[in-house]
Amino acid sequence: MSCSPYQCNDTRLDEILRAEGVWRHGVADADPVDERAVAQMDAWLSAGRHGGMEYMERYADVRSDPSKLLSGAKSIISCAFPYRASRRRDASLPYIALYAMGRDYHTVIRQRLTRAAMRIESEFGGATRVCVDTAPLRERYWAAKAGLGFVGLNNQLIIPGAGSYFFLGEIVTTHHFAPSRQCDTTSCGECRRCIDACPGKALDGHGAVDARRCISYLTIEHRGDIPPLSGINNKLYGCDECQTACPHNAHAPSTDIPEFEPSDELLSLTLDDALALDQERFSKLFSKSAIKRTKLSGWLRNAAEIKRYHSK
Ligand code: SF4
Ligand code: SF4
Repeated sequence: MSCSPYQCNDTRLDEILRAEGVWRHGVADADPVDERAVAQMDAWLSAGRHGGMEYMERYADVRSDPSKLLSGAKSIISCAFPYRASRRRDASLPYIALYAMGRDYHTVIRQRLTRAAMRIESEFGGATRVCVDTAPLRERYWAAKAGLGFVGLNNQLIIPGAGSYFFLGEIVTTHHFAPSRQCDTTSCGECRRCIDACPGKALDGHGAVDARRCISYLTIEHRGDIPPLSGINNKLYGCDECQTACPHNAHAPSTDIPEFEPSDELLSLTLDDALALDQERFSKLFSKSAIKRTKLSGWLRNAAEIKRYHSK
């Protein structure tokens, strides 16, 4: 389960990125996205598997050609930051996805990659654009192209031997860096553990997820009632079952980025605490957290659903 021995083609680039907490990076040529990958995305959208995430239907032309994101783009530097904190919630408490335990990664990663991009511009020249989830850029596709790992059947970027508990961010640049070697491990082989573990039966066995059945989507992105029989169990915000089941996560590194460590309050928050939050407390607790995305209404809906689930 090991990846190719990691080699950075540019020592100075490696130093710049490591200084900002990048655990591993790789470089891909900023070519248009492969036709096959574009067709897969189109089919996924046509089947409505993105649920209510209508924003994914927009900017298809940009998503399939990074030069539309940054004119003259030549390289995409894909960067991985481990997010699993050393302190975790007790398993008896309602589940909060590991990625959401610390400060909002959009802010933390963007600040770090923006500093790195400024250094790249000043030392190598050219223009840069930093992307952290919100731009129409296919992060896992580019991470795989950049040799960081492969996209597993759980639809996550898997770094062989280090797993999937990583935030991804990219620096698109008009400077050309030599592309990285592809990862030796390119698939899950015979493993199907995530598919068996998925409580919503949302994974199709070919690497695609049906958001409408995915508890992560339902508890974070979805507005309105949670569909019955979704298997929410104790999931208060997100669901990591398909990552927990993955053997590549057996030795996942913990983050050394202090902002990704949870507060004492979040570590000990009970279902009753969750149900008791009002807007003021919710805003205070989550103003710097990705959890604010579900809004108080979604948070209370999830908590009430857990209570209902366990009172059946
Ligand atoms: S996050 Fe949970 S529900 Fe969604 S695909 Fe993974 S295991 Fe299934
Ligand atoms: S659990 Fe197995 S099948 Fe699923 S992503 Fe991990 S290696 Fe692939």
